[in-house]
Amino acid sequence: MENSKQMRTWLDDMNLDHPLVIAGPCSAETEEQVLKIAHELKDTDVSYFRAGIWKPRTRPGNFEGVGALGLKWLQKVKEETGMKTCTEVANAAHVKLALEHDIDLLWIGARSTVSPFIMQDIADALEGTDKIVLVKNPVNPDLALWLGGIERLHTAGIKKLGAIHRGFSTYEKTKYRNTPEWQLAIDFQTKFPDLPLINDPSHITGNREMIFDVCQTALDLNFDGLMIETHFDPDNAWSDAAQQVTPTKLVEIMKDLKIRKESGQEEAFKAELGKLRAQIDVIDNQVIDVLGKRMKISDTIGALKKEQNVAVLQSDRWNTILGKMILEGESKGLSEEFVLKMFKAIHQESINHQEKVLKA
Ligand code: PEP
Ligand code: MN
Repeated sequence: MENSKQMRTWLDDMNLDHPLVIAGPCSAETEEQVLKIAHELKDTDVSYFRAGIWKPRTRPGNFEGVGALGLKWLQKVKEETGMKTCTEVANAAHVKLALEHDIDLLWIGARSTVSPFIMQDIADALEGTDKIVLVKNPVNPDLALWLGGIERLHTAGIKKLGAIHRGFSTYEKTKYRNTPEWQLAIDFQTKFPDLPLINDPSHITGNREMIFDVCQTALDLNFDGLMIETHFDPDNAWSDAAQQVTPTKLVEIMKDLKIRKESGQEEAFKAELGKLRAQIDVIDNQVIDVLGKRMKISDTIGALKKEQNVAVLQSDRWNTILGKMILEGESKGLSEEFVLKMFKAIHQESINHQEKVLKA
């Protein structure tokens, strides 16, 4: 993976003046459904038409995809619209069938990337292919596992590689279906700046209302493209109904997104600044999130102290925390003055929270 520069070439060769767009339904349902969506996407920015043929469902008993039959429908899409096609493969048999049906781009789903055994089987089946292969992040936020999957494909001689960021599972409920953990995607880019990185706002949000904002963040962070689930009748889709958008909505989203192109010195400067600011925005959100969590714990401590009739302020403990944090801050390049000010403010907020609980 040392020369990830050559990975870019498949994307650069496309000569797009906008981010790469992959769109189409979560699942291929019927031939009519696939072709209708494809025709509606035909004269848009969409270069690759997606449709899941084999569907990994969390619980059994749901629609699990139409199977190999759907590959013929994708071939028709290519013939009738000229769009290239893509689908998810999860084992060697899928790979064989997809290659036989001349699918142009294969992606590996989040539930497959987690398993080095599955990744190795898929890599062996794909050995030497000149098709594009994109690897979704594993469901768990493990950068090494994601990179490991890509490395297995690279070792199998696959040249046209890329990655899809589709967010990560959490036990705790959040506003996302799969939290983006943007920091992890930023670290991914830093490690392999030349490996094309596509964002999948559909599986991150699980909610069509939030798709635009996630797309914009991704473009601000310099992602190379977007994969967006699209259906002419999202509410009645056989899988992932809440997150799909209509082709009309997709065009609107693409039109409204601010795309920062790198051309000329000033543009390059603005693009770099935009990217760094987007990184700061991600971190600021994390800071607020973490502080919120800290205060929730304070509330619980407040309730405990109330039960035991203990005073809010425990100055010994507070001095120990401060001393530790000053040292920790120093090792991260933060001045003692700043750490003191910040922790005094946090401490004050914590006391306010606990007093509220005690007085309740
Ligand atoms: C999909 O793209 O439809 C899919 C199943 O995605 P993921 O592997 O990200 O869950
Ligand atoms: Mn889906």
